[in-house]
Amino acid sequence: MNVAVLSGGVGGARFLRGLLDVAAPEEVTIVGNVGDDLEVWGLHVSPDLDSILYALTGRADEERGWGRAGETWKALASVAELGGETWFRLGDRDLGLHLARTEALRRGEPLSAVTARIARSLGLQAALLPATDDRLRTWLDTPAGPFPFQEWFVARVHADEVDAVRYEGADTAAAAPGVVAALEAADVIMLAPSNPYVSVGPILAVPDIRAALESRSAPCVAVSPLVGGRAVKGPADRMLARLAGGTTPAHVAACYAGLIDALVLDEADAGGVDELDVRPIVTQTLMTDADARRRLAEAALDAAAALR
Ligand code: GDP
Ligand code: CA
Repeated sequence: MNVAVLSGGVGGARFLRGLLDVAAPEEVTIVGNVGDDLEVWGLHVSPDLDSILYALTGRADEERGWGRAGETWKALASVAELGGETWFRLGDRDLGLHLARTEALRRGEPLSAVTARIARSLGLQAALLPATDDRLRTWLDTPAGPFPFQEWFVARVHADEVDAVRYEGADTAAAAPGVVAALEAADVIMLAPSNPYVSVGPILAVPDIRAALESRSAPCVAVSPLVGGRAVKGPADRMLARLAGGTTPAHVAACYAGLIDALVLDEADAGGVDELDVRPIVTQTLMTDADARRRLAEAALDAAAALR
């Protein structure tokens, strides 16, 4: 059974780990967000693709919650000593990946091809595709002015309220090779429990991807990133409250209007299912360990099977 999943970084990766425990990895295609990409020290960093790569190949630092396990920070210390920029922290092992990626991109290799090579080298069995090979960047309009995603998220610790989210370059971006084909060949499409505005939103802003979802023949199931109306981590709840007017399941589903057939939501949000215009699947969605991750993936797969 072919499964295609649209995913952001850490939250998405958590769900994907469960999915790869219950689905055949070679039948899973992950479409990753690149709206967070940035240049650090002259290197191309793709934080969401890398969170997925590290999490799915057993290399993620689970305690810190981002980056690689066993990381050291010698390059960062050296940059700091020299007065360079250090607001975006890159560890030494992580840096190796960014060096390899950037070198390939400079040679003219598209991001999708580089990512596929890196994924293979790291032993990832599922296919990992960036949403697009074109330049696509998420911007946040805030009362303090507009900021590129990482400046708002990391440097300003997402403290500014968000008035609008923009996806620079999305209008003219083409889906990366294989993305539309994977969505068309999918028996199930899933939207991971990632931030709807800054993780899944940039992927859906690519016109061919949105069109492929609008004309889907397979059921599309989204998993809510909220538990009891609160984000497990990050600004999703604050963004939903301000941009969608609330944090109920219906507000989450409204981010995906016309694109999903079911929403997997937490028991703590069950009170809001009546306002939902897609099928609700109520379960425990907190992915505290491998069992919880697997059960959530199973619930999403079951929901899709019931819709086929
Ligand atoms: P990022 O790109 O690294 O910020 O990660 P994502 O956008 O993929 O995921 C962030 C979202 O994951 C947040 O909105 C969290 O609320 C959500 N999330 C994290 N852990 C869990 C969990 O255990 N259960 C659910 N339902 N959502 C989670
Ligand atoms: Ca992200």
